[in-house]
Amino acid sequence: AKEGGKRRFAVFTPAMRDSIVRRHGLKAELEHAIKQRELVVQYQPIVDLASGQTVSVEALVRWNHPGRGRIPPLEFIPLAEETGLIVPLGRYVMEEACARVSGRHPELQVQVNLSAIELEHPDLIESVAGVIARTGIAPDRVVLEVTETLLVKDAVRGVETLQQLRDLGVQLALDDFGTGYSSLSYLRNLPLDSLKIAREFVEGLAFSDHDAAFVRLIVGLAKTVGLKVVAEGIETREQLDMLREIGCDLGQGYYFAKPMDADADWLAAGIG
Ligand code: C2E
Ligand code: CA
Ligand code: CA
Repeated sequence: AKEGGKRRFAVFTPAMRDSIVRRHGLKAELEHAIKQRELVVQYQPIVDLASGQTVSVEALVRWNHPGRGRIPPLEFIPLAEETGLIVPLGRYVMEEACARVSGRHPELQVQVNLSAIELEHPDLIESVAGVIARTGIAPDRVVLEVTETLLVKDAVRGVETLQQLRDLGVQLALDDFGTGYSSLSYLRNLPLDSLKIAREFVEGLAFSDHDAAFVRLIVGLAKTVGLKVVAEGIETREQLDMLREIGCDLGQGYYFAKPMDADADWLAAGIG
């Protein structure tokens, strides 16, 4: 059978073997890490650009590996997705994050990333409902961040699952908007509350008229259809000023704060 119009040759190199061995090792270790709670959750403030107040935090997982040090999520999330470990991992992050924010920060929302694999899992709704019940968090303070890849396999089921989540009272954000295969039909058909403009666009804001035009367009579009907009990856004052001028509601990025430990002062991140 043809694959991508090219013939594939099965050349097995030592590098491939090493990579398989490493991945296999990592898989077992990741399983262990979830059980041993080597995974920690950090929190990055999301700031209201008009008032300067922190209004929400995004939970971001880190793996503190005893031998390898801190492994970034981009190295183990894909592995967790391939192996299905993303399901217990995601549950752990959601439970931690909701428990942390629920009692201590009654003024904040909490955002948790949901991968497409988790969305396909039959127990998702029950699991989210369980976290809400156990942590006592008001459901509308929970924001689940999803990407468009959730629609690749089965768009109809994807939309149904999102609707069921919404019926629990949680909010939904479309993450990394503008990358991948964003389509206007998603905005039209998905039951969303907010969208997050991908860092790539924010990065170009100050020097690319093209990117600035895109950000303007996305913000205008979001507002027209009644969605809140969050700009990701704000690193400079210039970007912040432009986003305010454009009318973007919310922002997140190193300019305000890097992801912080659970016990750090998240509220200090706002604009002074
Ligand atoms: P994401 O959801 O787009 O998260 C934002 C990423 O941008 C985070 O990277 C954050 O640390 C980084 N970031 C925030 N502000 C800035 C900035 O001003 N400049 C730059 N250069 N980067 C900034 P991180 O924590 O390494 O996470 C990477 C990705 O891993 C996340 O991208 C998300 O897709 C995934 N991820 C992280 N935690 C989880 C999780 O608990 N579950 C799932 N399914 N995915 C997760
Ligand atoms: Ca996210
Ligand atoms: Ca993002």
